[in-house]
Amino acid sequence: MEIRIGNSLLVLVQGDITQEDTDALVNTANSRLAGGGGVDGAIHRAGGPAIMAECRKIGGCPTGQAVITTGGNLKARYVIHTVGPIYRDGSHGEEELLAGAYRESLKLASARNLKSLSFPAISAGVYGYPLQEAARIALTTVIEYLKNHQDIELVRFVLFGQKIFDVFSAVLKDLSSEIPK
Ligand code: ADP
Repeated sequence: MEIRIGNSLLVLVQGDITQEDTDALVNTANSRLAGGGGVDGAIHRAGGPAIMAECRKIGGCPTGQAVITTGGNLKARYVIHTVGPIYRDGSHGEEELLAGAYRESLKLASARNLKSLSFPAISAGVYGYPLQEAARIALTTVIEYLKNHQDIELVRFVLFGQKIFDVFSAVLKDLSSEIPK
């Protein structure tokens, strides 16, 4: 599924984010940038040790913020590491932190003049964010950014599995009816 927002394209696909050839991939890092499971493990495995070497130098990243490293052996030139919130009950600033993770990743891509990037569903794995809510926050934040920034031409959400792809698709369908053509 895809929609156009001004000059930019927002695309949802099902797949493995490590295979993407956008300028950058976004990683669901932890605040120590120490590597882990899920997307984080897959990116470090596929990208090789150069990514971790840069993460060690950077040292860490607060929740809701983002940092950038080389893409190592990946097709993508860069990895943007962002830290989503661990979901507790929704009353601990989770929504703003999750929106921040998307927004700060996009800002970093703009600052580096990148034209395309791929996101996973941040916080929707081990960090336990309810899927429907995670999808709504992810998509509204990216749509809002693309409306106001023409520099990024392509954002791809690379979703792992049919269920999460279906949830994101349904939420995007609802939201896109509100976007002026
Ligand atoms: P978090 O710790 O932020 O919850 P996870 O990496 O545990 O992040 O999971 C985030 C989402 O990414 C989940 O929906 C998970 O199924 C998905 N995922 C896991 N591996 C990949 C991959 N290789 N490509 C794309 N998405 C993935």
